[in-house]
Amino acid sequence: MKKPPSALTLLKIIPFLLVISCHPVDEEKYFEEGVSKLLATYRYATVKDVTYKLSFIIPEGKEAPVTGEAVIDFSLTSKREPVVIDFRVPKEYIHSLLVNGKAIDPSFINGHIVVAEKFLTKKFNRIELSFRAGDLSLNRNEDFLYTLFVPDRASTAFPCFDQPDIKARFSLTLEMPSGYRAMSNSPALTTDTTDSKVIVRFSETKPISTYLFAFAAGKFELVTKEIDGVTMEMLHRETRPGYIANNADEIFKLHYNSLKWLEDYTQIPYPFDKFGFVLIPSFQYSGMEHPGSIYYRASSLLLDESPTLNERLSRASLIAHETSHIWFGDLVTMKWFDDVWLKEVFAGYMSDKIVSPDFPGVNHELRFLLSRYPAAYAVDRTRGTNPIIQDLDNMKDAGSLYGAIIYNKAPVVMRQLEKLAGEADLRNGLQIYLKKYSWGNARWDDLISILEEVTRKPLGEWSRMWVREAGMPVLKPVVTRQQEGFKVTFSEDDPAGTIRHWPQTLKAMVITRTDTVTAEVTPADNKSFILSEEEPLCIIPDISGKAYGTFIFDSITTRHLTSNINEFTDPVLRGVLWVNMYENLVNGTIAPVIFYSTIFTALESENDLQLQNYLAGIFSSAFWDFLSDSERDSIAPEAEKMVWHKVLQISDPSVQRTWFSLYRNITVTDDGMTNLRKIWESTLLPGGLKLSEDELCTLTLTMAVKGYSNPEKIIAEQRGRITGNDRLLRFDFVVPSVSSDQTVRDAFFSSLSDPVNREHEPWVIEALGYLHHPMVAKRSEKYILPSLEMLEEIKSTGDIFFPGSWVTATLAGHHSTEARTTVEEFLDDHPDYPPDLRLKILQAADHLVRTNEH
Ligand SMILES: [Zn+2]
Repeated sequence: MKKPPSALTLLKIIPFLLVISCHPVDEEKYFEEGVSKLLATYRYATVKDVTYKLSFIIPEGKEAPVTGEAVIDFSLTSKREPVVIDFRVPKEYIHSLLVNGKAIDPSFINGHIVVAEKFLTKKFNRIELSFRAGDLSLNRNEDFLYTLFVPDRASTAFPCFDQPDIKARFSLTLEMPSGYRAMSNSPALTTDTTDSKVIVRFSETKPISTYLFAFAAGKFELVTKEIDGVTMEMLHRETRPGYIANNADEIFKLHYNSLKWLEDYTQIPYPFDKFGFVLIPSFQYSGMEHPGSIYYRASSLLLDESPTLNERLSRASLIAHETSHIWFGDLVTMKWFDDVWLKEVFAGYMSDKIVSPDFPGVNHELRFLLSRYPAAYAVDRTRGTNPIIQDLDNMKDAGSLYGAIIYNKAPVVMRQLEKLAGEADLRNGLQIYLKKYSWGNARWDDLISILEEVTRKPLGEWSRMWVREAGMPVLKPVVTRQQEGFKVTFSEDDPAGTIRHWPQTLKAMVITRTDTVTAEVTPADNKSFILSEEEPLCIIPDISGKAYGTFIFDSITTRHLTSNINEFTDPVLRGVLWVNMYENLVNGTIAPVIFYSTIFTALESENDLQLQNYLAGIFSSAFWDFLSDSERDSIAPEAEKMVWHKVLQISDPSVQRTWFSLYRNITVTDDGMTNLRKIWESTLLPGGLKLSEDELCTLTLTMAVKGYSNPEKIIAEQRGRITGNDRLLRFDFVVPSVSSDQTVRDAFFSSLSDPVNREHEPWVIEALGYLHHPMVAKRSEKYILPSLEMLEEIKSTGDIFFPGSWVTATLAGHHSTEARTTVEEFLDDHPDYPPDLRLKILQAADHLVRTNEH
């Protein structure tokens, strides 16, 4: 069922084949570590009909090696070059290798098994290996393990062609200790149990990419449920009483609803052989969409008793997101990981559509605005921003592609596409796309050409600017007085200094003394404008919340908004205004003290809970990142008083918790610290709400870092209160970062140079947050340079999000010229620094550059 290469793909391959037919292939690139684009292109053109028969022997515990055997069948359309199989382990892990029945000693180059042409035939080939599996992506625990191969890690566990466009059928056999259960992408055919072991043979899968192949094995419980003829299986390790009973029905129902919705939307019945999912404690991501075996972080699905609306909404969205990937990602997969955003954006788009009708009480427009725009702007406004589609030369760098631009800007761009194409035509186009590329791979451009055909609209220029270009426009109102009144247009600047135009339409509003006018306006287009008879008092570039860019307010608008922002009754419009106000603060067009006093009043009176949450975040940012030390000292008593008053007033537990965490965050005065100490002692908020153990640990550490006198005493006491070994280990790990003793902090920081001490990445990030807290930033400036020097190693040893969070946690608390100079000199001194990491540094250092410009 493998799709033949599209015309476009062939065009892209032919020049390369021509080159290698007259010159030797660029060997260095071809064999380089990871999977270079060159290797992937050649393999895609020549390696066909791949199947893997894999068997693994999983021992008891997590120390003894996992061993395996692989039979890889494939045909070749050319044997001009040696076949390269990816296997990123030490060479001695390969125990034996047969190529077409003949034992050979392979060359092993940069994590590749290289099989010379002379051993191969131009049609069918069989390679048989016995090997020891690498542990890196097997996530081994004492009594369970699970694979997690996205984006390029299948080849750390078994030999394979580790690129998304060589889809293959997998037949898996697992031999495990008795008492283990397993789940994989396809149904189990047979299960043989003896006294000491269980052997499960799974049926052959449909064609899937290596990053989607998965199995989990261990001491799991199985729950099966059938709804209307759809059978679903769930594996879990939950032992707390009531959690499965209270949640299982809802979890199955949500999956069933998503499946049915997607079958209807796509007009393609569920394409894989079975449906199952595994709940994994402390799973790295919220979910991962392996077909037939979706993995979830257990806590995202198993909610506490009486969950909040938000928790229920997040769970439903997560299930809908992962289920959408079955069609968008699993059935049709991106050709190369540069298009990874495509599966993410459609999973998000579908999940919004699936879930929103079930939560009519939630303002979904506002939720979209607040969850996407601020996070996207935070990266897109920086010199380190990147386009939605980024170049990717080698699969080993695929982890760097993930970030706010993919997760937050891409959904905004998708809404533009829906508006341009129309909802019905977009659905039509997606159905054609899914049908055409089923079981194969596609690029963004393949979808765009289908949509151009369906809609008969040119989308190329739109796609080029919004998807392939980095950054966003800066838009400013321009008022000219004319005979008929005041004409308002919008100028468009390109922050990169070139002349680019981002196609979009604004829904602008002009408020005058007696009137309000709205009109659609295209920036930088003199023919479209908004006209008011009287002089404008306030110009809002876009009230729809759908336009994207930096909207600079003029001084009249700023003056109007700072006194009237609360009078806009539509929460979405208030949200739009606040998101833009904050960007104006960041851009230096609103003075921090004015911003602060406006948000102080707004926060006090805001009733919409989503907005309250957002305002609390930017209030804290204004407090720590924009006010000077002396400004902060002078407003602190009043700020604490207002926020504490809210803590006293609110009875809803989750809202009270939000206010208290803001209080904890901004409290700096002696009185405030005494108050925190009282809360910490009683462990209760006013009204009797008990703080959780995690909240109490955070409170302790925050008090310590803010210079609470005699912190050792509260730390020791808090330590004694902790139940559960994991939490205790985490607390002990973080404590040195808040120490008032410099030698303790120095020793802690140097301990991080050993990768073993960075294994628990969330612990490290938490500790760095305290180490570089704004109140102690000065004493921690000396750690900035060594932290930057470690970044390349952090990338090679850590998970995909770690380099970004490492540099962000390091720099977020700093605002000094010295810190800025350190970063700039580091970048100047390393002109050949890996571009992906340079961008991550520029993203994280943006506030440093800006605050020093003010
Ligand atoms: Zn996803």
